[in-house]
Amino acid sequence: MPLYEYHCEDCQADFTLLQSLSTNKEETTCEHCGSSSVNPQMSSCVGKVQGAPRKGVKPATIDDYPNKTIFNLPKPRHISEI
Ligand SMILES: [Zn+2]
Repeated sequence: MPLYEYHCEDCQADFTLLQSLSTNKEETTCEHCGSSSVNPQMSSCVGKVQGAPRKGVKPATIDDYPNKTIFNLPKPRHISEI
């Protein structure tokens, strides 16, 4: 069963529910205040499931990092060069 992440509009709580695909999301209520004003957060759900590959997302490369200088580590030197 997939995990669904919800955000409660009333108490601003974020919570995750394990629901089957057939569950009516309209009937989901906040587990903190019981409000039915909850919004499913589908986009962030995928990223939080460990080990699940994200379709259409390329692996991060060095060009994705704004600060590339963090990769400029000093070259390892042999102990005889020091
Ligand atoms: Zn709530």
